[in-house]
Amino acid sequence: MEHRLAEIVGKENLLKDVPMWRYTTFRVGGDASYLVNVENEEILIALLKLLKEKEMPYYLLGNGSNLLVSDQGYDGVMIRLGGDFSKIEWAEQAEQSAARDSVPDAVVICHASAAAMLTHMAQEASEHDLAGLEFAYGIPGTVGGAIVMNAGAYGGEMCQIVESVRLLDEDLQVVTLKGDEMAFGYRTSILKKKPYVVLSVKLKLHPGDKKEIMAKMNTNMTARKEKQPLEYPSAGSTFKRPEGYFAGKLIQDAGLRGYRVGGAQVSEKHCGFVINTGNATAADIYHLIRDVQSKVRETSEVTLEPEVIMLGEFN
Ligand SMILES: Cc1cc2nc3c(=O)[nH]c(=O)nc-3n(C[C@H](O)[C@H](O)[C@H](O)COP(=O)(O)OP(=O)(O)OC[C@H]3O[C@@H](n4cnc5c(N)ncnc54)[C@H](O)[C@@H]3O)c2cc1C
Repeated sequence: MEHRLAEIVGKENLLKDVPMWRYTTFRVGGDASYLVNVENEEILIALLKLLKEKEMPYYLLGNGSNLLVSDQGYDGVMIRLGGDFSKIEWAEQAEQSAARDSVPDAVVICHASAAAMLTHMAQEASEHDLAGLEFAYGIPGTVGGAIVMNAGAYGGEMCQIVESVRLLDEDLQVVTLKGDEMAFGYRTSILKKKPYVVLSVKLKLHPGDKKEIMAKMNTNMTARKEKQPLEYPSAGSTFKRPEGYFAGKLIQDAGLRGYRVGGAQVSEKHCGFVINTGNATAADIYHLIRDVQSKVRETSEVTLEPEVIMLGEFN
């Protein structure tokens, strides 16, 4: 099996027994049996064909910024997209968009591959005088992860700017879904139910004033630095916002500011963030999340749902 994997992805792109704490922003997690770096679509399709044939479990890894991998690790192949998957292309001229009729001003299409980083893309958009991605500046994820999660902040969300998404379906066929076929919702998309792989996206952006775009991005970044415990490893907001409430406020009201399990802690700076104070295990984070859920349920009768994705075994 190892030999076949190496043949497909290249020996230098196949890593064995890989500690997942190195690949996740929580900085916890045991070993994945394999981690492969995949450089283009052809290699990805060949790889997935093999893994399906051999019934070997695999997992698409973005920047690991919303992922809690268990201390036991992952018994399968972690797939990390790079190379051609990091490309961002800007249309020279305004293209006709499917959403053109509903958008009064010009629409400029950006083609971004799944491994492009959101912050980098937002920065490039501002350099091209294009508005629409300001909200994404500071979200430490890839385009692929952001599509799966319908990532959003400061009033913006991926679903507002997605024209279409190119995906690989279960049968390894390339399909293109329009934004309104993606079943986007609050931190969710069709990919939460279907095991598709995001290959690339077409985003619709609008010509804007560079100064205004940059000012918005800087304001958002300043707010992040002021309010979020960016000095500690985390996965951002640990819980989804329950309708009508703020997770951080509910956690604070339950008296859990600074609450600890081992090296995991409810951030003193922002109760919506669970942080790794340095020596947390994935189990510490998991148990802290469960404690927070049950204490908040007791005090406010609200069930907090984790936004963070848990991978592997937890008990
Ligand atoms: C400090 C900090 C601040 C954050 N702020 C925000 C915020 O403001 N708003 C917000 O929404 N989120 C925020 N997050 C969470 C996180 O950055 C986002 O959810 C991000 O979109 C995850 O992207 P990722 O590439 O890291 O995905 P990962 O965490 O690696 O993966 C997330 C999911 O996407 C899947 N996936 C990844 N790539 C692909 C692909 N190509 N095809 C199919 N599936 C794929 C994975 O299998 C997994 O299920 C923050 C996180 C941190 C650490």
